[in-house]
Amino acid sequence: MFENLSDRLGGVFDKLTKQGALNEADVATAMREVRTALLEADVSLTVARDFVDAVKEKATGQAVTKSVTPGQQVVKIVHDELIKVLAGDDAHAGALKIDSPPAPILMVGLQGSGKTTTTAKLAKRLKEREGKRVLMASLDTQRPAAMEQLGILGMQIGVDTLPIIPGQTAVQIAKRAKQQATLAGYDVYMLDTAGRLSIDETLMAEVEAVRNETKPHETILVVDGLTGQDAVNTAENFNARVGISGVVLTRMDGDGRGGAALSMRAVTGKPIKFVGLGEKMDALEEFHPERVAGRILGMGDIVSLVEKAQEEIEAKEAERMMKRFKAGRFDMNDLRNQLEQMMKMGGMQGIMGMLPGMGKMQKQMDAAGLDDKVLKRQVALIQSMTKEERRKPELLQASRKKRIAKGAGMDVSDLNKLLKMHRQMADAMKKMGKMGKKGLMRGGLG
Ligand code: GDP
Repeated sequence: MFENLSDRLGGVFDKLTKQGALNEADVATAMREVRTALLEADVSLTVARDFVDAVKEKATGQAVTKSVTPGQQVVKIVHDELIKVLAGDDAHAGALKIDSPPAPILMVGLQGSGKTTTTAKLAKRLKEREGKRVLMASLDTQRPAAMEQLGILGMQIGVDTLPIIPGQTAVQIAKRAKQQATLAGYDVYMLDTAGRLSIDETLMAEVEAVRNETKPHETILVVDGLTGQDAVNTAENFNARVGISGVVLTRMDGDGRGGAALSMRAVTGKPIKFVGLGEKMDALEEFHPERVAGRILGMGDIVSLVEKAQEEIEAKEAERMMKRFKAGRFDMNDLRNQLEQMMKMGGMQGIMGMLPGMGKMQKQMDAAGLDDKVLKRQVALIQSMTKEERRKPELLQASRKKRIAKGAGMDVSDLNKLLKMHRQMADAMKKMGKMGKKGLMRGGLG
């Protein structure tokens, strides 16, 4: 489905993952190549550009972990971004929304896109996988052959079609389908609208009239995946005019460049629900962004390796902190870790808010106007302490305090504030230590 793109990206990332260290120029080169590969796969320019920018940004801010190489981490970032581009915010792009029976499903698209075939494929799927009683109706009043085609497919898959009455308009047929579906107790009725060779006003007006008459639960646009950027334009047009709820990309079994799949969600805001993978009635697959991203990259091992490494690091850190809390230990090094974490997580809204028992202190800190700048100053104060002082803050008497404050370019009163905060946090940590690991995990540190 995405062979060319997959090969191209494979080449880029093979180079990258073999290198032990990466500098910015390496990543920049790789990203230029990714961008070219995307454009050659007919991904739209803005989508390709946004994609590469997002990856670059994440790759730069990424802390390097020991057990995986930087290149492997970049692969993981690309993988996650691919999923994002393919899926948007949808959790279940694959399912059809079918509410109260009889549920109307409107099938729209250009002639030759595979609309009639896809209507039958979906009907078969609803019947076999979900046990639905389905009625199909062709609204293609211009092409009797298309109406007959749906009837033949219906017989083939054992799904009823609405009898043809010559001379009826699309809206009349739609009304009749609705009546029939209601009277005979069908769960779903599917309306296969007429296609044209290109988008035209009469077609759109007709689809709109049918939509107003039936109020479909889903309006599924069928587009030919081989047509790349044109498929995305068609989708934009249909969506603007009649409003679509999802897309089926057909002919994804061919050696198309696959770009339509990558641009569709980002450009139209509508999910790809299914892909057509052949002429047979079973050749329809739910669209799974994770699987597709995996297929495009072909680097599943690396992705899971990086995931595992990240989980291990987080678990180890949580465990380490836990041990210290349990032992009632929370020294200046721990405080510095916490402060640095806060900065990484975007300030005070970060970790403090998630820790149990910290709400009150956060309010105090907020009241004291603790922002990133203040956090940095506090870290500077801790850095100005000796190793021993960091481990045992109780050593800090007047002369040491003066030295530390001076070293960080601040007043002793600043240091006193920091020490007070440390004492409060140490108390809270001790309490948390007693709550055990579960409490901590729930608190959000895990
Ligand atoms: P319509 O004019 O949009 O209703 O298109 P049809 O459903 O009649 O399909 C046109 C042609 O495309 C037929 O020969 C179908 O068998 C074929 N077709 C439909 N979907 C697919 C697909 O996913 N893959 C392939 N290879 N062919 C398909």
